[in-house]
Amino acid sequence: MLKAYFIHIISRLSRIRYHMSDSCIFCRIVSGESTAEIVHRDDQVTAFRDIHPVGPTHILIVPNRHVESVNTLESADEQWMGHIFTVARKIAHEDGISRGGYRLIINTGIDGGQTVFHLHVHLIGGGRMKHPMG
Ligand code: 5GP
Ligand code: ZN
Repeated sequence: MLKAYFIHIISRLSRIRYHMSDSCIFCRIVSGESTAEIVHRDDQVTAFRDIHPVGPTHILIVPNRHVESVNTLESADEQWMGHIFTVARKIAHEDGISRGGYRLIINTGIDGGQTVFHLHVHLIGGGRMKHPMG
C-alpha cells in the first residue's frame, strides 16, 4: 500500500519535471507507468522497441519531455534533438545494423502519418528499404 503510494508520488514528480501529459502513451512509457522494451534511457531521451515493428529493428526515440511534434519545436529543443541522432547511431551499432544501413523517420501531423502526438524518431533497419517514399 505504502509502496504503491510512493511509486505514484515519484511518477508524479517526474511528470512535473518533464512536463509530461497524463494521456500520452509515450509519456507513460518514459515515466515507467506503461511497459515497453526500453533499449536506451538518459536524462534527455528514451528509446524503446515499436509495438508493431515494420522491420527486424524498429525503435522509437523520444524526448523525455512531452513535445507534440516538429511543429511545436523551439530553439531550446535543439540540444536534445541533436542528441537523438547520436543515440540513434549508438543503438544502430548495438543492434548490428550500422554497416547495412537504416532509415530515420519523423512523421509530422496528420498528412505526415503521425499517430502518436509525442515527437519520436523511428529507427528502422535490418532489411533493404523500398523506394520511393511516400
Ligand atoms: P507515428 O505513426 O506516430 O509516426 O508512429 C507511432 C508509432 O508508435 C507506431 O509505429 C506504433 O506502432 C507505435 N506505438 C503506438 N503505441 C505504442 C505503444 O503503446 N508501445 C510501443 N512500444 N509502440 C507504440
Ligand atoms: Zn508525451
